[in-house]
Amino acid sequence: MKKYLYILTGCIMAVGIFCCGCGEVLGNRKQNIPIQSIDTAMGTIVNQTLYGEDAEETAEEILQLITKLEQERLSWRVDTSEVYAMNANAGRQTGIPLSKEMNGILEKCLQVSGASEGAFDITIGRVVRLWDIDSWAGVEDVEEYKLPDEKEIRQALENTGYEKLVLQDNTLYLPEYVQLDLGAVGKGIALDEIGQKLAGEENIAAGVISVGGSILTYGIKPDQSPWRVGVVNPGDSAGNLGYLELTGQWCVSTSGDYERYVEVDGVRYHHIINPATGQPADSGVRGVTILSKDGLLSDALSTACFILGAEEGSRLAESFGAEALFVDYEGNIVMTEGMEQYFHLSK
Ligand code: AMP
Ligand code: MG
Repeated sequence: MKKYLYILTGCIMAVGIFCCGCGEVLGNRKQNIPIQSIDTAMGTIVNQTLYGEDAEETAEEILQLITKLEQERLSWRVDTSEVYAMNANAGRQTGIPLSKEMNGILEKCLQVSGASEGAFDITIGRVVRLWDIDSWAGVEDVEEYKLPDEKEIRQALENTGYEKLVLQDNTLYLPEYVQLDLGAVGKGIALDEIGQKLAGEENIAAGVISVGGSILTYGIKPDQSPWRVGVVNPGDSAGNLGYLELTGQWCVSTSGDYERYVEVDGVRYHHIINPATGQPADSGVRGVTILSKDGLLSDALSTACFILGAEEGSRLAESFGAEALFVDYEGNIVMTEGMEQYFHLSK
């Protein structure tokens, strides 16, 4: 049995950024020449281009912000995080008191779960652990990888379901055995926090920041040209199908079957799970890109729309005031009407 493992850690590959007219100058403090940096945080690549006097310091602070968000709030793995504490307290009769931030995050997640009829579901933790998706990242030898069997999946699904959660007075009632996973929204939440930070930085005029498959554009470039955010070709993730031309502040999130997957006996198992089956989603979509003003929403919707497919997914995105673009196995593109004004095919 031959198994292969692939991961595109850098979702700069998933969604490329074109920064027209910007030189690759490090340490240059002139406002019309950006500072560029590439680092890792939140288990992915963080790519920043910032224009302004304080660009270097701000880039460093943004990295720290992402790391703090992961360690104090979102990681299911790190025992200092709020998600870890929630999972460890599943079944507690008196409920789990939440920070204001986490309460807001869970409220929005539950809204998307309801609107997507459970396609997006943060109670997917047990199923994701079973597939051991995180072990697919960066491991060379996956000879020992074992696919979960049907019985295990059925058992994990019994402890999955957003309607099992009760959120009341900043308290979460999480039933015993149910485990949360915020992997589908972490990068989008990071974009929201980065956007808020930049709004308070008088000396940062503009910038574009990618955290894995999620990208924030901010402000207007000194030469007034629009941001160009690439939409990857899922059939050849080194290339772009086209790009979104954007002005000002936007969040762009992409979910794709090429981002993280394992191949067993020639079959590809990717990381976006349909909660109805416990199996990787199979809606005929290979990649979805969502455009929204809100980072958490763009990230949650990209995951939900991947599972729902183009027709239902478009309706879902539009119901949240977002735009969506879908690519299928033949490379066909379907998009919401509103997306047409932003998307341009590569020549
Ligand atoms: P994304 O790449 O944003 O689509 O997020 C995928 C990640 O979200 C996976 O690695 C899982 O941790 C988690 N996940 C997988 N399926 C779902 C789902 N149906 N709902 C919510 N989170 C999911
Ligand atoms: Mg997502």
